[in-house]
Amino acid sequence: MNLANTLMLASCAPSSLNRVDMSASQDLTQKTMEAFSRLPETDTPTFSSRLNPEYQRKHIALSLTPGNVLLALHRAREAREVAVSHRNFRVGAAITALSVGGPAMFKILTGINYKPGESRDVNVHAEQLALLKATDRHLTAASIVAVVGETQLDQQSGHTMHTLHPCGLCRDVMKNHPLVDPDATLIVSALPTFRTIEMSTINELDAFHNDEQSQAEPITRFEFPPLKLFEPFVPEPGQTSVEITDTEEDRQEERLWDSSVGVYLMKRRLELLDQR
Ligand SMILES: [Zn+2]
Repeated sequence: MNLANTLMLASCAPSSLNRVDMSASQDLTQKTMEAFSRLPETDTPTFSSRLNPEYQRKHIALSLTPGNVLLALHRAREAREVAVSHRNFRVGAAITALSVGGPAMFKILTGINYKPGESRDVNVHAEQLALLKATDRHLTAASIVAVVGETQLDQQSGHTMHTLHPCGLCRDVMKNHPLVDPDATLIVSALPTFRTIEMSTINELDAFHNDEQSQAEPITRFEFPPLKLFEPFVPEPGQTSVEITDTEEDRQEERLWDSSVGVYLMKRRLELLDQR
């Protein structure tokens, strides 16, 4: 099946089909097809079951490093640049996904939100697009899901958020998705400056949004000063790559990143590996 068709089917709410102006809808369909026409088409096998959870958790745990998290955040923000939103609410997502071969074999798949008009018929969510791409590339476990955007009220729970969490629909999709482990896959959401970053799992997000009785604070938040680490990787004019420096300032920033995010990830890794 063609990926763009799959997206269209996934985003069509049956109850709204009767009410749409079909010519406008066809125009949007055309635009959507054009937007996704550059995605390579491959045969996607039917996913039947999860991998052995122990196997999957071990590899997710080993891939949770400060560097991998920062890279996923950068890719999500770069993707956000091409997001399409009629109300300028742009979201970028990046999923670090592993293949059966082990943690050394991973790919980062990006997604954007795509909602060119008011119509609900065309409404692609960044996280779901990235997950579709990971599935299409035959990857088997999502270890990091990074989401970058400005925050708003959560439309399903009504909660205020410091960063933009995956929405209720995306939380449901991920909770039941064969690539996502609701207790192990790391969900990282950040404001576009990366000054505020939150980390959790799908089950922790669920507790935050749906469990009014929950006393624990399930989401961990980091606040940072402006850092060079957070600046976009943009080559100088005329250059094709970014020059890597190793100054004392760079090292101080890395120590700050490692001593906050790194310590949190280390704890997560140990918890996941202990569960085996
Ligand atoms: Zn969503």
